[in-house]
Amino acid sequence: MSGKDPELSRLGEALSSARAAYAAAKKKTDETKAHLNETGSRIQTFNAKIADLKKSIDAEYNAMRSERAAGDRDAAEGHRTAAQAMQEELTHVYDTKKACFSKLDEARDAFNKALDEQKSFRDIVQKAWDAFNERLEFLKSENAKEQSKWKEKPCRICGMPIRYNVEWKHIPNLCKDCFEKDKENWEDRTCAKCGKTFRINKGWEHIPTICGDCRKIVKAEKAAREADRAARQEAKAQKAEEIAKAAESERQAAASALVEVANEALVESADPTV
Ligand SMILES: [Zn+2]
Ligand SMILES: [Zn+2]
Repeated sequence: MSGKDPELSRLGEALSSARAAYAAAKKKTDETKAHLNETGSRIQTFNAKIADLKKSIDAEYNAMRSERAAGDRDAAEGHRTAAQAMQEELTHVYDTKKACFSKLDEARDAFNKALDEQKSFRDIVQKAWDAFNERLEFLKSENAKEQSKWKEKPCRICGMPIRYNVEWKHIPNLCKDCFEKDKENWEDRTCAKCGKTFRINKGWEHIPTICGDCRKIVKAEKAAREADRAARQEAKAQKAEEIAKAAESERQAAASALVEVANEALVESADPTV
């Protein structure tokens, strides 16, 4: 999957080169750090040497003073010369140490610069990694979506599972083998109605004798006939209902007329003046 997506490949390459750049920057940091440590330890060596020289110079002066006190002027002079020579050496060591301090500053600057660069490359690696990962996650979810579009159903003839994609325009009902075999079942027939050639499958339960177009016409005619019959039945029912209604209202009118006559008769018979 990773090899197929050009964007992921591009991001993968960007990540590798960012990592390579980081590794180079880290190497430089290590080198400058080693140089800084080396310079620092050189200064330590100078300090030790200075301490030694100072001790030796003191010793020579002390020796010079005791020879002088003892009256040996030549020996005293020898110690003085030796002390002076060491004093010169000490000055030289101080100078060298001073020069070394500026080297130490340079080494420290170089180390700090390399460290900053390493940090910025680390950020680039992080960003490249995030971009790569984001793309990977996106592709994974796309893949899952695509996978969910694949379904299975049994072959209508043999029941073997058929894998199909829900987005296909024509989803097969038969497996490949059955489809091939089924091909032989197809036959040309001549329409009994219009004479056109149409195809039938010998496996069908009801094999038509007329073509699809004619079947549509027959069906439409049948539907029209049925609709006509229904309309006529409806009209008939309505008429019957109207007649029934008319008979009912006639019956009611006759009944109320009868009640009126009866009431009048009652009123007349109750009149005491009659
Ligand atoms: Zn099959
Ligand atoms: Zn036909």
